[in-house]
Amino acid sequence: SIVITGATGNLGRHVVEQLLEKVPAEQITAVVRNAEKAADLAERGVKVATADYNTPASFDGLFSAGDKVLLISGSEVDKGRVQQHKVVIDAAQTAGVALLAYTSAPGSLTAALADDHRGTEEILVGSGVPYTLLRNSWYHENYTENLAPVLEHNAVVAAAGEGRVSSASRADYAAAAVTVLTGEGHENKTYELGGDTAWSFAEYAAELSRQTGREIAYSPVSADALVGILTGAGLPEPFARILAGVDVSIEKGELVVSTGDLSRLAGRPTTPLSEAIAAALKG
Ligand code: NDP
Repeated sequence: SIVITGATGNLGRHVVEQLLEKVPAEQITAVVRNAEKAADLAERGVKVATADYNTPASFDGLFSAGDKVLLISGSEVDKGRVQQHKVVIDAAQTAGVALLAYTSAPGSLTAALADDHRGTEEILVGSGVPYTLLRNSWYHENYTENLAPVLEHNAVVAAAGEGRVSSASRADYAAAAVTVLTGEGHENKTYELGGDTAWSFAEYAAELSRQTGREIAYSPVSADALVGILTGAGLPEPFARILAGVDVSIEKGELVVSTGDLSRLAGRPTTPLSEAIAAALKG
């Protein structure tokens, strides 16, 4: 089987959708925390298994020898994600899966957000399980799904200076994952995945202006100022610090990926940011 954890998340849904275009539904297993959220997938013939990264026993017997597994990194950043991911890696090792692909972060990223990914990669690579590291750069959707404050203030606020970011859509990263899960020869490979075109926040603001007909400016701020703005808007401070840390990394160029791995694996150019903006504005 091809097994997807985090299958009811945003990325997981894209992966399952694209897999369904390539392989029979009964060959796909969606691993989810809440089976009700996956009722639509079960209806279409996808196998649904219930497991939680926080409950090791829930993964007992879930994988079979020869499975190809996609471990989508968890979203509970305060719950020890390395240990959570190790639960899945241990279960994959016990079962003797053929491949365990993991959604990681760019190798160049030094922001605190990358620590869990580095820790997970180390355990996976050391486990002896055939692995693929899908080192995903940033999603377009991190920005385009959060346009409300931008449109309210006619300002893009970031602590990224003139830095550029190679973002791509979740659907693009999903396409790369599907190629790895359905193809051959991806064992023990590391892919640095990012959009074909890196953009700056000034360019992002200019594209927003063009598409909305309004004057939207980029307002670069310091990392501390951004933390203040984000906590003022109700974000918990630790999370605000993580986001500001990512901006600092962007300023340093750590989220620019120029390998071309993503479009090569997806088999097509990555989605332009302008397209993601247009889709979000149409809403
Ligand atoms: P989502 O938050 O939409 O999905 C996260 C998935 O992980 C959900 O399916 C969730 O299950 C599952 N999950 C979380 N905790 C557990 C747990 N304890 N046990 C089992 N499953 C769990 O994120 P995306 O799909 O958008 O992104 C996928 C991952 O990529 C994120 O989890 C995060 O690690 C990372 N990420 C990457 C970004 C980037 O720009 N590259 C930006 C943001 C996140 P459920 O459906 O039940 O909630």
